[in-house]
Order: sequence, then C-alpha cells, then structure tokens
Amino acid sequence: MLELKNVSKFYYQQDTVASGFSKINLKLNRGEFVAITGESGSGKSTLLNVLSGLDTYEEGEMYINGQETSGYSETDFEAYRKKYIGNIFQSFNLVNSYTVYQNIELVLLINGFKKSEVKHKILEVIEKVDLLKYKNTKASKLSGGQKQRVAIARALVKETPILVADEPTGNLDSKAARKYYEIIT
Ligand code: ADP
Ligand code: MG
Repeated sequence: MLELKNVSKFYYQQDTVASGFSKINLKLNRGEFVAITGESGSGKSTLLNVLSGLDTYEEGEMYINGQETSGYSETDFEAYRKKYIGNIFQSFNLVNSYTVYQNIELVLLINGFKKSEVKHKILEVIEKVDLLKYKNTKASKLSGGQKQRVAIARALVKETPILVADEPTGNLDSKAARKYYEIIT
C-alpha cells in the first residue's frame, strides 16, 4: 500500500542543509503493524510526517497504492491524508475549550461529514477508549492519559486504512501501553 524507494528528507536553513533521514527503503502492507525504532534525532518523527503527507521529501520515490507521489500538489496530499491517514500526535493537539465529543466531531466535520450523521460513530469510538463518562468534559480538564485516549479516538473515528502514531506509549506505564496497543490493533 505504501512504498518508499531511497527516500531522503533534507532541511534547508540559510546556508546549511541538515538531513532528516537518508535513503529509506520501506514497504508497508495493509493489515501490518510496524514499529519504527531508533535513537533520538535519528529521523523517526520526520519519516512519519513524510509518510503522513505532512512533510515533503526531497529525494527518492514514495508510492501510494502503486502511484508515484513526487508530482503530488498540496491538494493531492490533502486528499491523501483525508482518505488514508489517521494521526495520533505526540502532543495530542486537542482543542482545550472543546469537550471530548466536540474534539472528535471536529475531525469528522473537517473531513466532510455532516453533524447529523456522525453522532453514533462518535459515541461508539468514545466508548471504545473508555471515556463515555467524560464525553461532555472539556479537554483542558482531562488527565494526560485521558487526553491521549481522546487523541486515539480522534484518529480511529476517521476509519482510515493507515494509523500513524508518534511515540505512542512514551508516557505510559506498561499496563497502559498494553491497553493502548489493544485499542489501536
Ligand atoms: P526522532 O523523531 O527520531 O527523534 P526527528 O525526526 O525529530 O528524530 O529528527 C531527525 C533529524 O532532523 C534531527 O537531526 C533533527 O535535528 C532534524 N530536524 C527535525 N525537524 C527539523 C526542522 N524542522 N528543521 C531542521 N531540522 C530538523
Ligand atoms: Mg520524534
């Protein structure tokens, strides 16, 4: 479904060029669970951003379902993200003044769903991450673990074929990490 051939990412700053990652070859198939490991600064986040269509690559080829993407415009990548990618961000990126329900609803509205048709879907995913009691609680009032579960729910509710999570269990104990794994797989 996703294939990278010798893909490199450079960061250009004034007179210097920094490498995000270099010559990555990777093939990801539907239904696979893949973990990318490496020391801090090795390019994991950068790679996930490129795979998610959030960042550009400068060298090599990235294929989506066999289609080469070097000619993709921003609009093409936006459409790709909409159709294929659910992101769970390390910093959660929740709207603090919105409730759990509203945070999840927002993603669906942005993706073209109508308010009237998403209620069931939202409640279902809130139940999945065990936050029904908090559905009307503002994100600012949640604990770190609860925020993380909202972030998971928000990525799951789009029902995209690809789920991208950066450092998903970095702040969790092993029991919470196992639970997280159960929810997303
Ligand atoms: P990891 O997630 O594995 O810790 P990153 O993908 O965040 O690594 O970073 C990979 C490399 O790219 C690092 O050397 C980092 O300094 C560099 N880098 C990341 N983001 C930027 C940026 N916006 N501008 C310039 N360099 C960056
Ligand atoms: Mg990182």
